[in-house]
Amino acid sequence: MAKLLEGKVIAEGLKARIKSEVESLKAKHGKAPKLLALQLGENASSAVYVKAQKKVAESLGIDYELKVLPDTTSQAEAETLINNLNKDAGITAIILQLPVPKGIDAKKLASLIAPQKDAEGMHPQNLGKILLGNYKIGPCTAMAVMELLESTGEKLYGKEAVVVGHSEIVGKPLALMLLNKFATTTVCHIGTGERGVLPDHVKKAEILIVAVGKAGLVKGDWIKDGAIVVDVGINRVGDKILGDVEFEGASQKASFITPVPGGVGPITTTMLMRNTVELFKDQL
Ligand code: NAP
Repeated sequence: MAKLLEGKVIAEGLKARIKSEVESLKAKHGKAPKLLALQLGENASSAVYVKAQKKVAESLGIDYELKVLPDTTSQAEAETLINNLNKDAGITAIILQLPVPKGIDAKKLASLIAPQKDAEGMHPQNLGKILLGNYKIGPCTAMAVMELLESTGEKLYGKEAVVVGHSEIVGKPLALMLLNKFATTTVCHIGTGERGVLPDHVKKAEILIVAVGKAGLVKGDWIKDGAIVVDVGINRVGDKILGDVEFEGASQKASFITPVPGGVGPITTTMLMRNTVELFKDQL
C-alpha cells in the first residue's frame, strides 16, 4: 500500500523555512517583500485564491496587497498599470489573477510583468532559466511537484519519469525540471492519448506525474509496482473532487501517491511565496 504524500505537511515545513528567512531579511535590510495581486473584475474562483494568498503571505511576514480593477478596464489601461507597478519600488512581486474578463489578453498582460517581479515564474526569461538549468523561481505547480518528489527522499537520477500533460504551466516546465535532475523523461500529451499508447508509457514510469484534467484517465492497473505517483488533476465530479489517476487501484501498486485533494494543491500557494522571497533577495 502506497505512502500518502500529504501536501499540507510538506507545505508546513516549507512555510517554517520561508518565515524564518523573511524574518532575517527584515532584520538585516529593514524591509519585507511585498506581493501585489492584480485582479480584473470580480469572480468567485479569484476570490478564493486571493483570500488564501493573503492568509499565507501574512502568516510568513510577506506584505500582500490586492488591487481589484473594474471589469470594464481596457487592455491598454491594464497594461499601463502593470508598467507602473513594475516601476514602483514598494512592490517587489506581482501576480495577475486568472480568469480575466472577456476581451482582455491575459497572456500579453502576464508577459508585461517584469521578470524581476514575476511571482508566478511564467515570464519567458524565467522559463528560459529552467531550460538552462539555472533557476530559483518557476511556475508554482511544477515547483510544488518537485518538492513532493524531493520529500520522498528517492533519487531521480536515471529514473524513468513520465509526465502526462504538456501545458506551459505544469507539464512542460516540469519535464525540464526532471531533465535537470537527470531523470529519463517522457512527455505524453493528447497525441499520445489519441494514438492509444498512453498505457504503454505510464506502465514504464517509476516516477509518474499526471496533469491533464480528466478524472480517472490513468487506470490503477497501469501503475508500475513501486512507482511514485503525483496526481496534479483537479476534477469536480458530482459533489466530489477527483484526480486524473484512479486512486484506489493506483495506491495498491505505488510506493508513494498524492491524495486529491490534499496533494499538490496545498504546496502551490507556498511556492508562490517562495518565488516572492527569491525575487526580493535578487532585488536587494
Ligand atoms: P491544460 O492546460 O488543460 O493541459 C492539459 C494537458 O493534458 C494538455 O497538455 C493536453 O494536451 C493533455 N491531454 C489532454 N487529454 C489527454 C489525454 N487523453 N492523454 C494525454 N494527455 C492529454 O491543464 P493544466 O493547467 O496543465 O492543468 C491540468 C490539471 O491540473 C487540471 O485538472 C487542473 O485543474 C489541475 N491543476 C492543479 C493545480 C494544483 O495546484 N493542484 C494547479 C494547476 C492545475 P493538448 O494541449 O495537446 O490537448
